Amino acid sequence: MRETNRGKRIVNEKGAEDTPGLASQLVLIFPPAMHPTSPPLGIAGLKAFLESMCPSQHIPTLDLNLRFHQKALSWIRNGRLRMKISGMEPEAAAGKITEVCRYLQGNEGMAPFLDMERYNEAAEFYERYTGVLHGLFDHFCRRILAGLPVPNLAESFFKELLEPVMELAPRLAGFSVLFSQQLYFALTMARVLKEKGTRVVFGGATLSVMPHVERLLQNTVPFRIGSDRHRLHSETCLDFLMVGEGETGLLALRDQLDGDLSEVPGLVYRKDGQVSKNPPRMVADLNVLPLPDFRDLPVEDYLSPVPILPYLSSRGCFWGRCTFCTHQKTYLAYREESVEQTVSRLHELRTRHGVVHFNLVDEMIHPHRLARLSRALLGEGAKLFWSAYAKPTGSFDMSLMDQLHRSGLRLVMWGVESGSQRVLDAMKKGIRLEWAGRILDSAHHAGIWNLVFLLFGFPTETEAEWDATLRFLEQHRESIDALSKSRFVLVAGSDIMRQPEQFGITQVFERPERDLASIAYDYEVSGGLSQEEVQRRFEEQLPLLEQYGRSPHFGVFRDHFLVHAAVRELGNQGNDLEREME
Ligand code: SF4
Repeated sequence: MRETNRGKRIVNEKGAEDTPGLASQLVLIFPPAMHPTSPPLGIAGLKAFLESMCPSQHIPTLDLNLRFHQKALSWIRNGRLRMKISGMEPEAAAGKITEVCRYLQGNEGMAPFLDMERYNEAAEFYERYTGVLHGLFDHFCRRILAGLPVPNLAESFFKELLEPVMELAPRLAGFSVLFSQQLYFALTMARVLKEKGTRVVFGGATLSVMPHVERLLQNTVPFRIGSDRHRLHSETCLDFLMVGEGETGLLALRDQLDGDLSEVPGLVYRKDGQVSKNPPRMVADLNVLPLPDFRDLPVEDYLSPVPILPYLSSRGCFWGRCTFCTHQKTYLAYREESVEQTVSRLHELRTRHGVVHFNLVDEMIHPHRLARLSRALLGEGAKLFWSAYAKPTGSFDMSLMDQLHRSGLRLVMWGVESGSQRVLDAMKKGIRLEWAGRILDSAHHAGIWNLVFLLFGFPTETEAEWDATLRFLEQHRESIDALSKSRFVLVAGSDIMRQPEQFGITQVFERPERDLASIAYDYEVSGGLSQEEVQRRFEEQLPLLEQYGRSPHFGVFRDHFLVHAAVRELGNQGNDLEREME
């Protein structure tokens, strides 16, 4: 990845509005460690909202996840950070990592990026590298939080990583914690900021679905380093948590930082030795929200040969009944912005950033809405490539698929989950298996690439039902371009966890000292495969499952998948993409 100093540039990007006092009120941070293939949407949306409410203020946004990866690469290249990867000695590994990052960023050109053999080899190595890198720094974070010694390099690394935030010296830092693997990084960085007098609030999807999230603010919070138990003194890292949607809560918190916190929506905070929790509030009409503001973020520096922007056109899930799911729980209700607004927003983002690839990250888009959206895009003559998540319901047909393809939809990520109708019904998935097969095939014929989500080992699922999923895959092999496969995990916040007995779960086990990032529970079932059998079978069958689709890595690198799906169609002349899109 290219080195960048754009972290510093943001302070001055808005010129006269950027008086030091105002710029340092609030900073929004996306922490490591995720794959940095496109900019984070959450902080871009919050920035736009907060600045629209207070036009005289600049709210800087910092993608410290991207900076983490850029800095790691730079340290690896100059020998400050030495890592063995896949048995390679550090010097050889450093050369290979550099080469792979250059390749994935498209520096060798689009045609090599589209070469599946080369792509798979690079993606495989990158996954191994980031597995080691993330694991190493997660370990350092935990040791720092436990008060244990770490190598000087770890201290120096975090110090350099945080430089752009330190320069801003914000009164309040908001961390967007989307996934649990960001939690220890965020806590470690928050601790450094708090030592300098900055107040810290964590928000994001992970916190919104975490059971008893208020425990994070208790005096001591248990966590683990391997099998060793430690305790985090949370007041050294955290002042507040924010659950649910952050717009109104963050606005109120910024204004009431030293005042009355009882009216701050969604805020979890310490008061009189107790932890208090305010009810969250949502933005009822999404049409009033401003355009997400990615201008602080170096859109072209991400790990992709073409820039891709995420966009959210609805909140929550129109279905919201799948019993294993916690995604929709972040939101109080399902809402959509008008398709006219979505189309106009995508155009504005295209004009502002020169981006033509968009990943619509709505939980699921209803086929009727997809139909209206694609019609509106076609009516506007939109020349965009986009991807979306959908549920294979009966309303999809061939003519809709054609229309979607003409509107630029190149990739759909389908929640299929199982090849057994009984299991689908137990999941309350609301789909028929025959619809799923027909829809995958028609999308394929229309030129849309399909990613299929699968969930193996749902409680009471039998070997025969598991095998039915494998047969389904085989029947539709031609139409499946990638799989995202997982095994069932009983997680807090899901409907199953609330009423486990209704799903054949006879016992749920609480771990005595649960790690603060853990939301999974062990369980026993009355029939079907046991939890251990599910795990064993899943691991045994991974090599088989990896044979489906164009690349076993597209399930992880979905932004790359969109690039492949969109650009390949231009006859492997991907380097001409921008000209084609004029
Ligand atoms: S799995 Fe998908 S369709 Fe089902 S409730 Fe969750 S987001 Fe909605």
